Amino acid sequence: MDLEKILNKKELTKEDLIYLIKLKDKEEINKLYKKAYKVKEKNVAKKVYYRGIIEFSNICTKDCYYCGIRKSNTNVHRFNMEEKEILESAKWCYDNRYGSLVLQSGERMDEENTEYVEQLLRKIKKISNNKLGITLSLGEQSKETFEKWFKAGAHRYLLRIETTKEKLYNEIHPQDHSFQNRVRCLKDLKEVGYQVGTGVMIGLPNQTEEDLVNDIMRFKEWDIDMIGMGPYVIHTETPMGKIAVNTKEEKNRRFELGLKMIALARLYLKDINIASTTALQALNPIGRELGLKAGANILMPVITHKNYRKDYQLYEDKPCIDDDADECKSCLLNRVKTVGDEIMYDQWGDSPHWEKRIK
Ligand code: SAH
Ligand code: SF4
Repeated sequence: MDLEKILNKKELTKEDLIYLIKLKDKEEINKLYKKAYKVKEKNVAKKVYYRGIIEFSNICTKDCYYCGIRKSNTNVHRFNMEEKEILESAKWCYDNRYGSLVLQSGERMDEENTEYVEQLLRKIKKISNNKLGITLSLGEQSKETFEKWFKAGAHRYLLRIETTKEKLYNEIHPQDHSFQNRVRCLKDLKEVGYQVGTGVMIGLPNQTEEDLVNDIMRFKEWDIDMIGMGPYVIHTETPMGKIAVNTKEEKNRRFELGLKMIALARLYLKDINIASTTALQALNPIGRELGLKAGANILMPVITHKNYRKDYQLYEDKPCIDDDADECKSCLLNRVKTVGDEIMYDQWGDSPHWEKRIK
């Protein structure tokens, strides 16, 4: 097959995607990234939107085999940010013109939590004169809860499927975690009216390149608006982290696959929002910049208060845990400059795909 010919096609086939994800030659891989950047420029512009992320609690009822804050990890100091502190962070986001924020935490389905989040959403809307856009990343919930939170002001929801291969999903989760329930949630979120984001972990044990291509194709089938995906990064206090290979070569392989997946998603889905995730930077100091160059258009600067960052480590080597929101802001500004993209302040930066979807 001829690389140029594939990259110039209007619609890629599964075979094309497999060819691209398997590229080995550095120059050819760079051609793939360059093409993806062009497709980004054409469909979503050379613009980067910020979502300040507040990781407000690490209390989780789930036990995912890969995650550092899974409930069975007794070495984790559990925290719940005070409402006042969350609102301060939200205000910081607003004052610094970030346009929107993400509220993320471990998964809790209890009523107390549902109501707490509902009130929190109303308060964030109020302190920002209804201007801050709010994305939630709070795991699986009932449709009623999704509705409640939507009515209270959230308009985007991120729920990674982790892998669209049910068999692999079952290998990386305990038996009582259900793939079908996660699929149900994604469907409910769309019905309620959210812009829906999903994604996978890249480079999981037993995950093939074809599996990853199937993930991308499934996102299109599901008509997804946004993607947040990143390499799997080990946390040694987890069942998976204890057995997964963690050599330098393997980390590089996961990193490169992470960039290729961004490029493939941009080429195949075109007008969706794609995040350049922090996990990329955990494996490479300029990982997030390279993500933007490979086709991503969203950054999620961590604005969680410094005191809590060390206790919210889903994986090891998470960058920026000693920084505060101001430090992250100036650091990112310089990073985005090196790419040549423009940072869009004060805007929600909704996915163009979603805008077309609701017309
Ligand atoms: N509890 C919520 C949100 C927090 S976890 C949820 O699970 O949806 C957010 C994401 O972190 C997960 O979807 C998972 O893809 C990612 N994550 C967890 N552990 C990870 C690891 N070891 N490496 C890379 N990503 C990880
Ligand atoms: Fe909890 Fe999310 Fe981690 Fe799973 S990935 S253990 S749901 S925080």
